[in-house]
Amino acid sequence: MSWIYDAHIHLSDPEYKSDMDMILNYMDLLKIKACCVSMDLETSNETMNLYEKSKNVLPFIGIHPEMAQKESEPVYDLIEENNEIISGIGEIGLDRTYIDTDDEWNVQKEVFSKQLSLAEKFNKPVSIHSRKTLSDIFEILPSYKIPGILLHWFDGNKSQLRTAMDNGYFVSYGPLLVYANDKQTLLTKTDPSQLLVETDGPVRFSRCFEYKTTEIMFLSSVIFCASKLLHISYEKLLEQIEDNSKRFLGI
Ligand SMILES: [Zn+2]
Repeated sequence: MSWIYDAHIHLSDPEYKSDMDMILNYMDLLKIKACCVSMDLETSNETMNLYEKSKNVLPFIGIHPEMAQKESEPVYDLIEENNEIISGIGEIGLDRTYIDTDDEWNVQKEVFSKQLSLAEKFNKPVSIHSRKTLSDIFEILPSYKIPGILLHWFDGNKSQLRTAMDNGYFVSYGPLLVYANDKQTLLTKTDPSQLLVETDGPVRFSRCFEYKTTEIMFLSSVIFCASKLLHISYEKLLEQIEDNSKRFLGI
């Protein structure tokens, strides 16, 4: 039986803390591995703690664009110190929603670039937040030699998806796929060998997910929906996603 890989989830978020033993148990029982991304120093440390508890936790540490104005050196140090342990660097990226001035934009870009250079230095994959900044990111990425690039929660248009595919980037879709027509259209245009799935928990989703805290088990619905859209069996897609996840992670 294949392992299910969640390409992007924030298990280090305080919202999961009280249920953590149960979540790690479920992951073991249901054969789920998760790329656990971080936001800042605190969540990066928490991600490393979770990795100590379960090897199904694949630790990604880094600074999210929302946190880019805070002190960043301690996170860079943590990446350096743990470079042999971590699975990747993330969540990193660009997002103008979190800035007010040009200076802050420059800081955000600097923090992003520094983390891309660390990914290059240690040959690690990256999990990228690209809300409304795909064109900026497409300009920056070719300057770095990074083994696996994931544009998580892909939200571009069809031509941006084409660019991502042509450059060999991975894209991931989450619970939104189950009810959002535009995401379903994008999925059918995604090369199945560059497709990953994610929950981005604890982000909440509407409709059938009723704004409940996103559980890692929502992945089955995402994969089921994707298999219908791609006209392949659930099992076959599961195998494909496991294979893609391993290539993304370089394992
Ligand atoms: Zn995220």
